[in-house]
Amino acid sequence: MSVLDVRNLSVQYLTENGASEIVKDISFKVEKGEIAGLVGESGSGKSTAMLAVMGLLENRAQIRAERITISGEKPVPGQNAAMIFQDSLSCLNPSVKIGRQLRETVQARRKCSRKEAAARAEELLDLTGIRNPALRMRQYPFELSGGMRQRVVLAIALACEPELIIADEPTTALDALVQAQILLLFKRIVKETGTSMLLVSHDMGVTAAMCSRVYVMHNGRIVEHGTVEDIFYSPVEEYTRRLLEDARGGRLTVHRDENTENAAGKTGNAYGNPPLLQMEHVTKIFDESEGVRDLSLEIRRGEILALVGESGSGKTTAARILTGMLREDSGILRYRGDELGQDRRMDAFGGSVQMVFQDPYASLNPCLTVREALEEALEASGQRVNGTKRCRPERRRSSSHSREKGRMAEKIDRMLRLTGLSSEDADRYPRDFSGGQRQRIGIARALIVEPEILVCDEALSSLDATTREQILELIFRIQRKIGFACLFISHDMHVVRRISDRIAVMYGGRIVETGETKKVCSDPWHPYTKQLIEAVPEPDPLRAVKIKAAPGKDGTEMVRYGCPFAGRCGYALECCGEEIPESYSFDGREVSCFLYSDRHSGRRSRDYRMTSQI
Ligand code: SF4
Repeated sequence: MSVLDVRNLSVQYLTENGASEIVKDISFKVEKGEIAGLVGESGSGKSTAMLAVMGLLENRAQIRAERITISGEKPVPGQNAAMIFQDSLSCLNPSVKIGRQLRETVQARRKCSRKEAAARAEELLDLTGIRNPALRMRQYPFELSGGMRQRVVLAIALACEPELIIADEPTTALDALVQAQILLLFKRIVKETGTSMLLVSHDMGVTAAMCSRVYVMHNGRIVEHGTVEDIFYSPVEEYTRRLLEDARGGRLTVHRDENTENAAGKTGNAYGNPPLLQMEHVTKIFDESEGVRDLSLEIRRGEILALVGESGSGKTTAARILTGMLREDSGILRYRGDELGQDRRMDAFGGSVQMVFQDPYASLNPCLTVREALEEALEASGQRVNGTKRCRPERRRSSSHSREKGRMAEKIDRMLRLTGLSSEDADRYPRDFSGGQRQRIGIARALIVEPEILVCDEALSSLDATTREQILELIFRIQRKIGFACLFISHDMHVVRRISDRIAVMYGGRIVETGETKKVCSDPWHPYTKQLIEAVPEPDPLRAVKIKAAPGKDGTEMVRYGCPFAGRCGYALECCGEEIPESYSFDGREVSCFLYSDRHSGRRSRDYRMTSQI
């Protein structure tokens, strides 16, 4: 008997415009001890189907099914089934310590004393790979890193002793290394406890690495299912082929190697272009474990510079200092070669530095139409329209005012078309758009003021694979056409590989490696960069099996003495715990690691290749 057996499940909602069917007559199974996958774009109905299985849908949802059973019984959340979600913070009670949340779950399942429940809770934290569980039991959720919180959520799920765990996009918010650790943990738990798992994901790499069988869902229906090899090597449906193509990155039509005529090309090779914005030895400390230290970075004209690293490594802090949103404690910032003090920064930048954020909905004012949002951006930057400095309203003459309005409307229209929207969209509100369209609006709002630098802070992270691909292509095409410099912050190495000219890798608040993307990705020098690149699961079952956890502990550490990576580095030398490595430059690359120093390693310098020694 299958552990999970779902037959002919349909879910519909009654709306003002009639019934809307979200899940359409789907059937699927999960066998004992297996990890099955359910893939599809966001909006395909995956999460609704899972909530229907768990009986967690709101009352207005109408559910029909011939059968939904777990080992022949009705699913009961917290007993024979448990669910893990993407956002671990919202799954945990923020005002209750970890230990109590776990203990109460254990006691709800087993008849045992408080002391026995506490011991079991500690055991479960240990099982999920959390170091020093006794300390974590006394902490609140906000005191833990994202990876650690996801482990706690898994421990709570295991405390229910379920036969089935449904994991809905459990690693989407995590960076590659933490994701690899969590995925390995899932595999180990399934193997050791015999629990079955249904992994819901839009990430084909994660699915290839984890699942033995896969269901593909599209528009509320399961359009194809089979073994992971069938789905990845001989997909039948066009939709499955498109998902795989997107995951493998085959559809970015303007690829770096093809860009014969681009803005960077007009000014010469982007790699050799002069710096536009520079940070020199910048330090900003929030507390002992967060911030940036002695950070030097430059963004050159016409290039896309990717800033990568795990959460907490200081990427966003660096971007905020660069854009003038945050004041550094010490260090120098130069714009076009001139030193910019903190007081002059916002004025000097004007509208020339713009940001696109991760959550397009939260970054748009819901009360403004698209046109008003774009007009507001122009007003805020004091933007000249067609070379005419905009006047203050009280000084405007009516004829020049209406001419200016007309020019502004034209400019907004052009920008909407450039970002793949239409003129009719100008008078709609953010709520009327999908996530991908909202991100296009965010990009249009940033670009309408003709910035010299665009900062994209995890701008694709909340989008599904297909939408991500469209927005990625959009940013790339416009950047090539207009030629602004772009700082592209991301934890997704697949995306970074395809869009950026250069990469800067951050760890523990410092830049540990910079260089041309192609070179860094094909031959990483710093041990952390190597771990980061290897941790990305390929959308290929054979290649994905090599996914392995990085040695060392969770999370980024910020240290005063010694190399920040020393605790997780398999190459550490004696000096690594005592001195901070300086930056060694050669062959157009920079790396902060003693392995590349003649003085410390005695064997190093430009000819050394770490990859050959692994
Ligand atoms: Fe590893 Fe030492 Fe290099 Fe740091 S300096 S990355 S600890 S070898």
